[in-house]
Amino acid sequence: MKSLIEVDNLKVHFPIGRPRLFGKKQQLLKAVDGISFKIKVGETLGLVGESGSGKTTLGRAVLRLIEPTAGEISVQFNGEAVNLTDLNQKELRHHWRNMQMIFQDPYSSLNPRMTVKEIIGESLLANKLASGKELEEKVVYIADLCNLNVQQLGRYPHAFSGGQRQRIAIARALVMRPQFIVADEPVSSLDVSIQAQILNLLKDLQKELGLTYLFIGHDLNTVAYACDRVAVMYLGQIVELASTERLYNTPKHPYTEALMSAIPSLDPEESMQNVLLEGEQPNPADPPTGCYFHPRCRYADKDKCLSQKPPFCEMSDDWFVACHFADKLKLKGALDYS
Ligand code: SF4
Repeated sequence: MKSLIEVDNLKVHFPIGRPRLFGKKQQLLKAVDGISFKIKVGETLGLVGESGSGKTTLGRAVLRLIEPTAGEISVQFNGEAVNLTDLNQKELRHHWRNMQMIFQDPYSSLNPRMTVKEIIGESLLANKLASGKELEEKVVYIADLCNLNVQQLGRYPHAFSGGQRQRIAIARALVMRPQFIVADEPVSSLDVSIQAQILNLLKDLQKELGLTYLFIGHDLNTVAYACDRVAVMYLGQIVELASTERLYNTPKHPYTEALMSAIPSLDPEESMQNVLLEGEQPNPADPPTGCYFHPRCRYADKDKCLSQKPPFCEMSDDWFVACHFADKLKLKGALDYS
């Protein structure tokens, strides 16, 4: 299958502290530190990792909502190959029609002073893509596709529940008919009973409109349900990327194993055998030497892991891991994810 988006060695570094004088090096927070991946047309790639691992920064940098420090982002929209990192702001704005973002919090992401109809149609109007009757028709069409009551489009966001507000946010993202969506924890602020409805809506819309998603999440059950492949981030880097089934059932990286082990189980015996993740994530402004995960890794080799950074390699077909011992370790997965 063709790739819709290819990210190569992407970096987002933020200078921190006071600027250094006399040629001294500025300290940098490496929020995204040399990440490469592809997303195929029509697939959903999940992005998981602890808070502060750089997931949201990566999602925004892929759309160039945050300027990358280095690296390339190539996209294929309507058969046209574009390197997003080469575009000026005007050209970029043109291509944003094809790439949109759904935010985590449907309460703060909608303007309370605009009606739902205005919110959904705003980007069409601002880009002069529709007006008058045509605008109205496009708004009603996409609202209906997102299972909103089209009789209520004249109301304001406060009149809607959390789930309905997220439907409004999805309709707003889709009204320009984008091909690529970054969904940043789109269900994590919703009640559990509503989460499944929104996930199913995203899946239905993907089929109906041929969408490709980058799905950022921290709930591993949600990500397993929503995604075809999953990338695991740790301290600004991807440490493992594989199909959801492989990654959940037979992880190859010790950090993935620890994440899988943290999925709640109803079996007390299984919970007793959990691989506990000890310690805090290190400061990304001052990462450890060698493998960034070594201070928390129970398989770390003092000679190799503390001094040599493991490369992010393809172990087998479409299965990438950054661990010196990925082919030797026998790690425990979360059972029955298929
Ligand atoms: Fe653990 Fe070493 Fe593998 Fe890093 S390279 S995950 S420290 S075993």
